[in-house]
Parts: sequence; structure tokens; C-alpha cells
Amino acid sequence: MGPRLSTDERLASVVGRSPSIATLCSHSSLQIFHGARIEGLGAIGLCVGEPPRFYDAFPLARPDRFLSVPRVRDLPTLESPLRDAGAVIVPHGSFVEYLGPEAFGALDVPVFGNRAVLGWESDREKEREWLEAAGVPMPNRYADASEVDGPVIVKYYGAKGGKGFFLAKNREALADFHPTGPYVIQEYVLGTRYYMHFFYSPISDGGYRVGTGSLELLGMDRRDEANIDELYKLGAQEELLRAGLRPTFVVTGNVPVILRESLLPKAFEVAARIVEKSIELFGGMVGPFCVEGIMTEELEYKVFEISTRIVAGTNLFVSGSPYSDLIAPDLSTGRRIAQELKHARAAGRLAEVLS
Ligand code: AMP
Repeated sequence: MGPRLSTDERLASVVGRSPSIATLCSHSSLQIFHGARIEGLGAIGLCVGEPPRFYDAFPLARPDRFLSVPRVRDLPTLESPLRDAGAVIVPHGSFVEYLGPEAFGALDVPVFGNRAVLGWESDREKEREWLEAAGVPMPNRYADASEVDGPVIVKYYGAKGGKGFFLAKNREALADFHPTGPYVIQEYVLGTRYYMHFFYSPISDGGYRVGTGSLELLGMDRRDEANIDELYKLGAQEELLRAGLRPTFVVTGNVPVILRESLLPKAFEVAARIVEKSIELFGGMVGPFCVEGIMTEELEYKVFEISTRIVAGTNLFVSGSPYSDLIAPDLSTGRRIAQELKHARAAGRLAEVLS
């Protein structure tokens, strides 16, 4: 089931007026609303039940108004009030996950970015097809446990956030894995994780040229992942298991990082190839995306995942990052989204950044 309205009909609700930015009150909403407000756009908080109280504690990031529904799955009932308000929905990880990619993709409200990306990102197989076609190095995948020749990470389909992942040092240790659903066995890459926050504008004139527009690097983080990040204190996974604990990768926070400057060309090349292939495959990814990978000691960057929307790691950089400071002062990803909307509107090119 897709949207009922055509793209033109949907976009008619924002043409000729100053748009408001709407998003679900969670994840990176403070930054998104803050960015909208600095850029002089309206901000609408979508919430389940009462508006969360924490917005009272952050006056510069409080939306102008809230629209509330009893349950997440009732969010589509807000379609007409959102269109009436000239709203543009900004997707973030929690929004898409809670509502589900299909229901999100069917929303009859203008969405920032190309909603066609959802089908490519939410399915690990299609995501791999895209990244491999782009020539991006990825961790090896083993078709069968008998092929395993080193440490591996076993991922269940749809287990976002790494809950229930199983690590095995070698093929023998994999014998302790008793699957409870469909899974993939992947090479466990030893190295340093970098989550790179990019922004692709198809309408921008200057900068690092890719496709019809430019590629920007706005920040970088590493995730704090409970309880695996504490593993070194116990020495080995077996210690955790002996203690009756299963290692998990549940994200509990983020820390800022920067890359060796000499590795920046590699970072841009990987991101540019992902954008170029997206243009070929489904008309292009627009706006923020995050390339998530591991830099090995051979300085090879192996990508295990890509998030095709604003990631929570960008929350570190509400007032800019060591990268975005070299583009413009005080440039968060949330603010960059609001700017893109304004630029597209001024240039009469909204259809290129909304879907
Ligand atoms: P994912 O759900 O694919 O984003 O993975 C969750 C977490 O598992 C990541 O943030 C990494 O810490 C870790 N991870 C995923 N894939 C690999 C891999 N191939 N090698 C090592 N660690 C990985």
C-alpha cells in the first residue's frame, strides 16, 4: 500500500507558503525543532498521549505546537491537519521504526527526502545489493557456518540495534549458536567504528560535487553500546556468558570522534559512491544519511550499515562539529534540513527534496 495522493497533489500543501517542520517527539527531535526555529520555520511535535515534559526544559527546541494521537499507529489520522498546516515530515530512526517503513512510506504528507529509499534501507539484503553495487567494501558474509574462518557476528534479520547478536571467535565457538529465526553470519571486523554523518543536497551549487549537487560531512560519532563496550573489563565474552549475560549492542549514547585527516578522501569516496548508486537505483537519496563502518588497521573502511536519515549521533553537534564549522557556524544537521527546505522553496525546486 502506497500513498493515495500523487506526489504533486501532496506537495501542493506546501507550495507558496512557508513550511512547518513536523516530526515525532523522540530521537533527534530537539535538534530538528531547534534547527527549524533558527531558520524561522514552524515546528510541530507529533506525540503519543501528552506532550513529553522534557521540552519545557529546552525552550529553544520546543515545537510551536503539538499534535497528539492515542497510539503510534494512529499517526496517519493526522494527515489532513498536517497538510492544512503546510507541514513537511522529517523522518528519523524512531519515527520510521515505530510506525513501520510501509506505513511511513504511505503517509499522505510531504516527507523530507526520497521515500523510495525506505524499501532499500529497511531490508538488509537490498541494502547489501545497493552497497555492493556501489563498490563499497563490506564485511564478508558466510553462506554457511562450515565456511567460517575467523571471528564472526551473527545478526538476526530486523534485529536493529544489535539485540540478540551472537559473537563467535571461530567456527568451533559458533556451535553454541542456536538460532531462533532467520540470520546472517558476517565477518567480525576488528578495528575502530566510525559513524559518519553526511548530507547530500541535489540542489546545491558549490562544494564537493556529486550527481547534480553536493556532498557535505557534518559530523562523526561513535556509539556507546551496552553492554558490549564493557566487555574488555571482563576480558572475554565467555565471562559475560558465564555470568548469565548475553552481550548486546543496545545504544545508550554517543561520543564525538574525528577521523585522521588523511582518511577523509576515503570517507568522501565511499559516501559519494553510495549517493551515485542511489541516484541510479531509485532516483537518489536526499538529505542526511550516516555511513556506519569499521576502520581496520590496514586502514580499510568496511561498511556494515547505512542509515538513510538523520541519526541520533548528530545530537552531539547542535552548535556545530569540527567538520560543519568549516562549512558554516552553528550548523547542526537539523538546521541543515531546514535550510535545504528554504533553499529548495526559494529556487522553486521543492519537488527535488520532498516526496
Ligand atoms: P547494526 O545493527 O548492523 O547497525 O549493528 C549494531 C552494532 O554491531 C554496530 O554498531 C557495531 O558495533 C556492531 N557490528 C555490526 N556489524 C559488525 C561487524 N561486521 N563487525 C564488528 N562489529 C559489528
